[in-house]
Amino acid sequence: MSRVIPFGMPMIGEEERAAVDAVLRNPILVHGPLIKEFEAKFAEHVGAPHAVAVSSCTAGMHLTWMAKGIGEGDEVIVPAQTHVATAHAVELMGAKPVFADAGLDGNIDVGAIERSITSRTKGISVVHYLGAPVDMKAVMELATTYDIPVLEDCALAVGTTIDGVHAGLWGDVGCFSFYPVKHMTTAEGGMIITKDAELADRLGKLRAFGQDRTFQERTVPGVYDIVMLGMNYRINELQAVMGIEQLKKVDGFVAARRINATHLTARLNEIGRVRVLPTDTDIERQSCYCLSVVLDADLESKRIDIVEHLRANGVGTSVYYPSAVPMLTYYRQKYGYTADQFPNAHAISTRSIALPVGPHLDRDDMDYIADAFATALKEIA
Ligand SMILES: *Cc1c(COP(=O)(O)O)cnc(C)c1O
Repeated sequence: MSRVIPFGMPMIGEEERAAVDAVLRNPILVHGPLIKEFEAKFAEHVGAPHAVAVSSCTAGMHLTWMAKGIGEGDEVIVPAQTHVATAHAVELMGAKPVFADAGLDGNIDVGAIERSITSRTKGISVVHYLGAPVDMKAVMELATTYDIPVLEDCALAVGTTIDGVHAGLWGDVGCFSFYPVKHMTTAEGGMIITKDAELADRLGKLRAFGQDRTFQERTVPGVYDIVMLGMNYRINELQAVMGIEQLKKVDGFVAARRINATHLTARLNEIGRVRVLPTDTDIERQSCYCLSVVLDADLESKRIDIVEHLRANGVGTSVYYPSAVPMLTYYRQKYGYTADQFPNAHAISTRSIALPVGPHLDRDDMDYIADAFATALKEIA
């Protein structure tokens, strides 16, 4: 029996619909109490001292580098194997992203970080690739030695922990995404977490034009001063209330992902001719965003055919990520990078197919995906 298995699916229920509807019956759409409540609840959920809600993960990363005051002449180390947003956040400040290759598991190679550090390095960013934790102890050892701030791109890392400490709490900040197919959604949205109260205060101002006081803090309505250059990167009350409802469910979503990922990984490893990422076997510390199946080198030219075969059988796929970031046209043309500088990131982006393990799917779906994948390999390769 044929199935339809979307790669991703926002898990929106009656609770989110009712909560959004209640907000719409009220004149307060921005600057309201629900944003504060969402920040407090997210902070509690991950064990963070401070949380600042923003309009996207990208916005959060941009604000982080604004807050750190990086600019022309500065360098920030960025994983080659990530979403372009991690690099754009640096580029937008006029600083130079210096790309570090991934290891075979897709996470940044800590040795490559160390080799990239110069006197101009003003930041290190890492991404927990597919929700499998980066070796943050090793990264922080470097960061402490060289006194460089660290940004963790946690867009895929709600539920990722290292020694029981949530991702995003090892570096100076962690930036999360609530885009529809991520672990929880506010349609668009993001959150910055930090242990640094002063930084949190600065990020709060930067997200709202650089105003010295919030809407609630104004004694005279409409009267405020501007103390720094800032953006409008706020979220609204509709997004906040969705986030509050999603937070109640997110542990269940992550648990379902772990069960699906464990089963599908085992099935794919039986099939062979592929390397299944993440390779991390400690499933309880991963958020299990998806599996990235890296085809053996002799199958590279067959990738599109395999994707087509899966699509014809109802299996939605994606690619994480479509190119090593330095090989995207903008970065390649500007800085002249070549693929051989980033062999691992390049191999993953050109030879992998991402398969879904989201909470919209169950064990039977995982078996269906594995069977479809095995048939595709048999017929095509
Ligand atoms: C999705 C994603 C982003 C972008 O998140 P937005 O909230 O859409 O800005 C950034 N980094 C990574 C690793 C992502 O997967």
